[in-house]
Amino acid sequence: MDILKGIYIFFIGACLGSFMNVLTYRLPRGLNIAFPPSSCPKCGQKIRFYDNIPVFSWFILGGRCRNCKTPVSIMYPLTELLTALLFLACYIKFGNTLTMWHGCAVVFFMLAAAFADVFTAADENFECGIIPDSLNIAGFVIGFLLTYLLYGFKFPLYGALAGFLGLFIPSYLFKLIRKKEGMGGGDIKLMAVVGAMLGIKSVFFVIFASAFMGAVFGITLQAVSGRKNIIMPFGPFIAAAAILYLFYAPLVDKFLYGM
Ligand SMILES: [Zn+2]
Repeated sequence: MDILKGIYIFFIGACLGSFMNVLTYRLPRGLNIAFPPSSCPKCGQKIRFYDNIPVFSWFILGGRCRNCKTPVSIMYPLTELLTALLFLACYIKFGNTLTMWHGCAVVFFMLAAAFADVFTAADENFECGIIPDSLNIAGFVIGFLLTYLLYGFKFPLYGALAGFLGLFIPSYLFKLIRKKEGMGGGDIKLMAVVGAMLGIKSVFFVIFASAFMGAVFGITLQAVSGRKNIIMPFGPFIAAAAILYLFYAPLVDKFLYGM
């Protein structure tokens, strides 16, 4: 591992994490992702380039707007830091290869979907969490292309079909029997993205691991909050399981399929 390259990848991850903050806020609200440039939501002051350095600026400014001192959510630098660390992990795991960039694409689109889902679910202007179609489509196209270059055409094609059907069929049956929506359309599309990026073998693991994590989290949340019928975004669990599979595919495959 080359330290300089590692720093470079980390920096790219931090910048893309910063871009992810823009995407996860603007896409669900139907806003243009390039214009206008970022500004303080309180005083409208444009954020200058030197106050827009990923991770660092937030700490230098003490988590406040330079102009009006309104607090800025710590989620911004944390998103950037998490993206940067996972990009670095891809470099350490896969080296400076196309496989690494494929891994970075998985990380980027999984985190973006998870954060969009969580932030919209937490926003009272939205009824439930949203994973924007544009994000899923971009992830599908870029993921499909990189995976095709690495493993050929059948790998992402079968993976995407398995991913889509793997969530669509149970959610369709649920709707038929219970007469209510069980799973959001965004989650089903996200699962197709996972299949296109990580292949058919990942689908089985990601569906069951995410359902398991979601169930444990949901039961804990109900017990702690004392409330029933909490609507919980499912995207973050799919994303977490997909990132786990990205880094531990050989181990999972050996355990599940003996190969
Ligand atoms: Zn301000």
